[in-house]
Amino acid sequence: MASRSLSPSLTPCLWITVSVVCVCLQLLCGHVACGDAQNAREVILLDSKAQQTDLEWISYPPNGWEEISGLDENYTPIRTYQVCQVMEPNQNNWLRTNWIEKGDAQRIFVELKFTLRDCNSLPGVVGTCKETFNLYYQETDSEVGRSLRENQYVKIDTIAADESFTQGDLGERKMKLNTEERIIGPLSRRGFYLAFQDVGACIALVSVKVYYKKCWSIIENLATFPDTVTGSEFSSLVEVEGVCVSDAEEEADNSPKMHCSAQGEWLVPIGKCICKAGFHQKGDSCEPCGRGFYKSSSQDLQCSRCPAHSFNDLEGSWRCDCEDGYYRAFSDPPSVACTRPPSAPQNLVYNINQTSVSLEWNPPADTGGRNDVTYRVICRRCTWEPEECVPCGPNVGFSPAQSGLVDTFVTMMDLLAHANYTFEVEAVNGVSDLSRTQRLFAAVSIATGQAAPSQVSQVIKEKVQQRSIQLSWQEPQQPNGVITEYEIKYYEKALEQELRSKSTSATVNNLKPSTAYVFQIRAFTEAGYGTYCPRLEITTKEEATAAIVSSEQNPVIIIAVVAVAGTIILVFMVFGFIIGRRYALAVKFPGTKTYIDPETYEDPNRAVHQFAKELDASCIKIERVIGAGEFGEVCSGRLKLPGKREVSVAIKTLKVGYTEKQRRDFLCEASIMGQFDHPNVVHLEGVVTRGKPVMIVIEYMENGSLDSFLRKHDGQFTVIQLVGMLRGIAAGMRYLSDMGYVHRDLAARNILVNSNLVCKVSDFGLSRVIDDDPEAVYTTTGGKIPVRWTAPEAIQFRKFTSASDVWSYGIVMWEVMSYGERPYWDMSNQDVIKAIEEGYRLPAPMDCPPGLHQLMLDCWQKDRAERPKFDQIVGILDKMIRNPNTLKTPVGTCTRPISPLLDQSTPDFTTFRSVGEWLEAIKMERYRDNFTAAGYGSLESTKTPDQRRATVVTAGATKM
Ligand code: AMP
Repeated sequence: MASRSLSPSLTPCLWITVSVVCVCLQLLCGHVACGDAQNAREVILLDSKAQQTDLEWISYPPNGWEEISGLDENYTPIRTYQVCQVMEPNQNNWLRTNWIEKGDAQRIFVELKFTLRDCNSLPGVVGTCKETFNLYYQETDSEVGRSLRENQYVKIDTIAADESFTQGDLGERKMKLNTEERIIGPLSRRGFYLAFQDVGACIALVSVKVYYKKCWSIIENLATFPDTVTGSEFSSLVEVEGVCVSDAEEEADNSPKMHCSAQGEWLVPIGKCICKAGFHQKGDSCEPCGRGFYKSSSQDLQCSRCPAHSFNDLEGSWRCDCEDGYYRAFSDPPSVACTRPPSAPQNLVYNINQTSVSLEWNPPADTGGRNDVTYRVICRRCTWEPEECVPCGPNVGFSPAQSGLVDTFVTMMDLLAHANYTFEVEAVNGVSDLSRTQRLFAAVSIATGQAAPSQVSQVIKEKVQQRSIQLSWQEPQQPNGVITEYEIKYYEKALEQELRSKSTSATVNNLKPSTAYVFQIRAFTEAGYGTYCPRLEITTKEEATAAIVSSEQNPVIIIAVVAVAGTIILVFMVFGFIIGRRYALAVKFPGTKTYIDPETYEDPNRAVHQFAKELDASCIKIERVIGAGEFGEVCSGRLKLPGKREVSVAIKTLKVGYTEKQRRDFLCEASIMGQFDHPNVVHLEGVVTRGKPVMIVIEYMENGSLDSFLRKHDGQFTVIQLVGMLRGIAAGMRYLSDMGYVHRDLAARNILVNSNLVCKVSDFGLSRVIDDDPEAVYTTTGGKIPVRWTAPEAIQFRKFTSASDVWSYGIVMWEVMSYGERPYWDMSNQDVIKAIEEGYRLPAPMDCPPGLHQLMLDCWQKDRAERPKFDQIVGILDKMIRNPNTLKTPVGTCTRPISPLLDQSTPDFTTFRSVGEWLEAIKMERYRDNFTAAGYGSLESTKTPDQRRATVVTAGATKM
């Protein structure tokens, strides 16, 4: 719209008005400066003052509103609209702005600045002059052209001047600029028009400003809040969620929020963001921690320097890495120093008390920088050779504990007697298990002393009579040596009595009928008595009827009863002998158990099942092969019978493709072994005949056969220990001979040794005895015989008896005392037979107490009736064990010149000047070359331990 000149009558007045506006704006500037913040919150949609060219609003009718140029306080041209049709009645002058696009706005502010002429100051305008004008708007989605329809406008308000001015109002003191602000909204279309309706006033519209308010994007508490348009209502607060700045995170359960007020102000901040681990706050951002610094958590405010023995090479670290050899325990916070395992405990000392070992030590010199040092003990049992150390297992007790020890002492209990142990004491702290460096520990190797056996168990009353009670029991779990006897204590009220038994059963006689007796049993070894088992109360049977009672006292009746009983027994024996060939009817006399030859059974399967338990193969777990038997492999494994604890077993298997005879012979051993029940006879657990492979399951003897065991541990046992072994073998043989069983192949190779050094007689067969023994050779009398172990009458006439077993036992004694030396060394069988026939006998092995050698010589009596019985042998050995002084080797025996193979009547052999001379004297000159080759020219050669074997080779035999 082009500007046009005003009517002359009004011109000065309106110009003054514009000037006033200029001054006023100038004065307002200070105010605007204060309101900068407020202005900053405004988004201006229309500012008429900002436009210096024509506004070109629509004015209707054309003689109404006029666009007029003016200057503001800075003399900047501005555009104004004026109207002053005060003289004419019924004025209706419209002025409409251009289309204003509203953008995001919902609530629009309209600020009008105008001047208005006081009607009173105008003469002749009464009735036509007005002092207000109306403000309208129209919402549209786009521009609607330049026509103006009044009815499409919505009235916002009638605007009146706060102050109007008169013609005479000149000068700065009478400023009459009005400022009015109106708010419209909520608006829903894309834009709108504003319209001004003049109904006959004199107005100058100096400026029109249209704007809405916004809360501008800010960062508060490390959260960014975006530009936010204010709500539609005056009172509405718009809630806005903040977004954490980079490397910051929301504080737990406290996400950042702010509220945008209708005035465009951010109000009520809630929650916040915090810098992540590895970053710290600087102003409104998070910056990484520098090298050598860390921040472990977002909760921490500052980065901290790396703790001792740790480092980092990167910025923004949440923790520092430990230096080599240093660690952080899982529970260690990143703020603590890295630490390392402690050094070994110091000054470890031990104290042995029988089967208990106490250890004490001093703390390590270096605790690794921690104060959580504890100690742990590793216990290993070494089976005579250090490289065969195995963990001690659960039976060893540790007091106060095995690990986690706070104090510097510990006691280990329930160790095995006479056993080697290694104990390692290690200091550990919170990082020991993380360290891959070598363990540091203090160690001691210890041999335990002797200890009494543990308690016997499972005491069972086998038979309760009027005057006797028969008991049986299980040998102690930990014999801690060779059990020589059991003591049975029993008493009726205060009358205590004692009885001794060699085996694990006993019958107590001469008791009173109908009387309660209390029994307690304990085992005895060379280390003394074990503790008694718990008391067992048994009441003898009631007194019998008068007739029988009197028979116990009336000799006539007794004789009669004995006679009748004797006749019955005799009839049974005769009947048994006849029938026994067919059915193997066993005739047993009370108190004696007799061995029954399985060959007397027509059906060998019946024999096996009479004496051996049939086992379910599923109860047996074969683990590894430990040897080769005549019929197949011998394995070790585990047997778990229902309701019993799992035991280690040896399993002899029958190889596939066997003949019926082989099967019979194989199972024959079980039929024999199954008849025996003695702690020194290897125990049969049972057989598997109803599956394949056919198996014989025997108790497991950890140390295998005695000969190889002794050779492996040459010189490592005390004489008492060796005699203990011999005593066990003799006890087993006494039991077998008592049962009427003749072994025929008693030799150290046929004795098995368990982990407690208990020796048990094994290898029971019939013809097989001889067949599978590599030592057995055919003799002139036919059949194979292990010549070196066999008595002369058995070699010559096949006269095998318990007395010939005694001869063999003497050879076993010699084998044991010489640690598995071969009897008669490399002499030929023929020479041995000849030498024996001529009266020569093996000499005492090195370090052998004379009493023991004497016992050997007794066993080798030519006349078998002169040889001791096994019962006597056990008695002699028991005496020796009880009086260890009798086993002391006389001084000088160690370096003794060797007893030559010579008869005892020969003069002092030390008079020989050379080995040759001596061999000649004993008619063994054919061995001269062997001796010379072995470097034995003179008899005086002193022997070092290394020469032990050679020493024995030069040993001769003593003539009886
Ligand atoms: P045998 O057939 O009885 O001569 O056994 C052959 C080998 O198996 C023996 O020399 C032992 O090494 C081993 N052996 C036999 N029985 C047992 C057992 N009960 N415990 C441990 N090893 C055994």
